[in-house]
Amino acid sequence: MIGLVELLIMLAVMAFCAYQRMAMKKAMVINGAALAVLLVFVDNSWGFFLSLLVYAVVALFYLLPDLRIDWISRKLYRFMQQVLPPMNETEKTALEAGDVWWEGELFRGKPDWRTLLEYKKPTLTEEEQSFVDNETEELCGMLDDWEVVHKRKDLPPEVWDFIKEKGFLGMIIPKEYGGKGFSALAHSTVVTKLATRCPSAAVTVMVPNSLGPGELLLHYGTQEQKDHYLPRLAAGKEIPCFALTSPVAGSDAGAIPDKGIVCKGEFNGEETLGIRVTWNKRYITLAPVATIVGLAFKLYDPEGLLGNEDKEDYGITCALIPSDHPGVEIGRRHLPMNQAFMNGTTHGKDVFIPMSMLIGGKDYAGQGWRMLMESLAAGRSISLPAMGTAVAQLSYRMTGAYALVREQFKLPIGRFEGVEEAMAQIAGLTYRTEASRVMTAGAVDMGVKPSVVSAIAKYHMTEMGREIMNHAMDVHAGRAIIMGERNYLANGYMNQPIGITVEGANILTRNLMIFGQGAIRCHPYVLREMLAAQLDDEEEGVKRFDSLLFRHIGYGVSNFFRTLGLGLTAAKIADKPVAGETGKYYQQLTRMSSVLALTSDVAMGTLGGDLKRKERLSARLADVLSHLYLCSTVLKYYEDQDRPLSDLPYVKWNMEYGLYKLQEAFYDFYDNFPNKVVGKALRLIAFPYGKSYSKPSDRLERELVKPMMKDCDLRDRITQFAYVGKTEDDVTGRVELAFKKVLAADEVRYKLRKAMKAKELDKNLTNMERIEQAIEKGIINEEEKQLLTDAETARLDVIQVDDYAHEQISGVISD
Ligand SMILES: Cc1cc2nc3c(=O)[nH]c(=O)nc-3n(C[C@H](O)[C@H](O)[C@H](O)COP(=O)(O)OP(=O)(O)OC[C@H]3O[C@@H](n4cnc5c(N)ncnc54)[C@H](O)[C@@H]3O)c2cc1C
Repeated sequence: MIGLVELLIMLAVMAFCAYQRMAMKKAMVINGAALAVLLVFVDNSWGFFLSLLVYAVVALFYLLPDLRIDWISRKLYRFMQQVLPPMNETEKTALEAGDVWWEGELFRGKPDWRTLLEYKKPTLTEEEQSFVDNETEELCGMLDDWEVVHKRKDLPPEVWDFIKEKGFLGMIIPKEYGGKGFSALAHSTVVTKLATRCPSAAVTVMVPNSLGPGELLLHYGTQEQKDHYLPRLAAGKEIPCFALTSPVAGSDAGAIPDKGIVCKGEFNGEETLGIRVTWNKRYITLAPVATIVGLAFKLYDPEGLLGNEDKEDYGITCALIPSDHPGVEIGRRHLPMNQAFMNGTTHGKDVFIPMSMLIGGKDYAGQGWRMLMESLAAGRSISLPAMGTAVAQLSYRMTGAYALVREQFKLPIGRFEGVEEAMAQIAGLTYRTEASRVMTAGAVDMGVKPSVVSAIAKYHMTEMGREIMNHAMDVHAGRAIIMGERNYLANGYMNQPIGITVEGANILTRNLMIFGQGAIRCHPYVLREMLAAQLDDEEEGVKRFDSLLFRHIGYGVSNFFRTLGLGLTAAKIADKPVAGETGKYYQQLTRMSSVLALTSDVAMGTLGGDLKRKERLSARLADVLSHLYLCSTVLKYYEDQDRPLSDLPYVKWNMEYGLYKLQEAFYDFYDNFPNKVVGKALRLIAFPYGKSYSKPSDRLERELVKPMMKDCDLRDRITQFAYVGKTEDDVTGRVELAFKKVLAADEVRYKLRKAMKAKELDKNLTNMERIEQAIEKGIINEEEKQLLTDAETARLDVIQVDDYAHEQISGVISD
């Protein structure tokens, strides 16, 4: 018995050290001290001697690195070399581009929440706020999405002029070049607001400010290129596009067949060193109106004209070519989901361009993939997350209003539980999109190039946009299906798959990028171990590998004990960085983070390079990392808003929703793990009492929906960037004004309902007839009648849909 007690004591000491992630030296001292205490004060049993033996073996390997290398590290090193798939240049560049940020903490199993809470609250400057409130508001007011999409298939000329004159195309260009010099948050906010009014206008504005010539020139352009192009781009004198995608290379963009051969040719009447380029690109946004074409192609120098005779294949290279340069062909337009933003093709055959047209000049020959990956990390954090947020905020505001105004079975449809369920998803996810938008753009403003976080934001915020839109469509039913001037949802619904597809199609983003790259980038040791295994000098490689391997083992042991301890105590032992109702969520997320760290290590250790091909497993761990990130954005957002009491149901819903999704992703992962024993063992360690989290309750969801149908501060705050028209004949203005009128008449409507119940009013009348009867019977006065009539008139107007003459509909809609 005493032996077991001694063994358990030593196990507890070891678990404590591992839980705290103590340095090896400190842990050895503490365990040694515990053994000494047992030796002096307790009967020394088999438990003591077994512990001593384990301690001695660990100490031996710790103190004698040569022994460790010969017995373990060298063998594992050679094994790694055999099983690891060789990393190609494209993968290596993608892995090296961008930074690991907060997601690294979440991945490593012991997030320091104080770091998160201490990140500066992202805010707009006075100038940026004014641009959102004035220029952007004015631009929204000029836009009629129906006219843009269904009649013109273009923005009206006055809108193009306004966009150029007011600097919308130069938001990211610094002031010294005549741009706005706006933060990522400001850029994202402008796109969000515009997209709530007209997605085509938002895309038009977003592309020059995102991944494209502007961004590439800023970071890699020569001074001459910057001085020439940036002021012209900022003033809208140049319209840029960026052409990477070709018919044969979409997701696999590294495989573009477009070629440039270094040669001498004539430019401006002189013999010049340059490149003969051939390309065929499609899907290129703004190409049909572009004055400069950013072009990605593969560069070859067979004659060594760049000065290195041994190097022929330089790899992907980016150039900036005026669209009127001889040989450049801007092709015909595509029609992406019927949207009106410009999108089309560009071609060129043996077009000679001088070296000065390479972005960054000759020095950046072959650096294109790295340049694109680095720019993508920033751009993907901004544009598409903003589009997802726009869908969310507009859907929240309009669905809440419509659900109050639209009545069926003599009740506003928002009062039915089934509708409430759909509305609750809109409400909770809208809060989540804004929290994620702000934190992710904030990271870019902190100078981070968040490549994994940007993939999470891109994937989840476009998917949330899609989910929210589907619910909004369901609640509106026929009112959202019938297209026309009155419909404020259908075009957004059509636009939704574009965000899903561009900047890394979503299936690939979830299955390959988030965890596939995230695991290697965020893991404290794996990438360095892989690089060590690829070294040509075996001795150096083994030495580096050995030091990493033993720290990696310590990390794994720590994750094991942390996961077990947090699971057995339901995370009660975890740190709470804040007091109050949200403290417990930090504890649960710490627990899930620890499960992720352990599970990732076991998955990588047992599946090795196969994990890359097991995309569905990788995608589930991607979901885990994503939900950890999304939950943490909500907690941070709540703190940054100074913890408004009214937000609490939204925060709770998001935590319960996120934890439930985390748990389901883990269960699916364990259930589908190829080695059933390992899968079951992991599940037992991670969830020792079975499933721990359930979905948000119906009661909580009811709390979320209430403010959607009230004219309250929370509704205004949650939808602060949704542009709503100001007049009764505006597509969204009419719904907003009707909503307010219905609310203003609420008390009088209640009087009518009471009178109906008391059989003082006839049930089988229309609402208008009932108002007349009520005034005749003296139940309401003239003032009340006016309120009711105004509300009913507005309500009847809101529920109308458009109709057209057959001749108008056949072909393009005409006046
Ligand atoms: C409206 C629009 C605007 C665009 N604008 C531009 C632009 O301005 N410039 C530009 O260069 N490009 C642009 N693109 C191209 C866009 O970025 C690509 O369309 C996108 O990368 C996907 O390529 P694809 O459509 O050829 O799909 P494919 O590559 O054919 O992929 C098809 C499906 O297979 C999945 N898939 C592919 N490989 C894998 C894998 N290994 N694992 C799992 N799933 C995988 C994808 O996720 C996708 O679901 C635009 C596209 C559209 C539609």
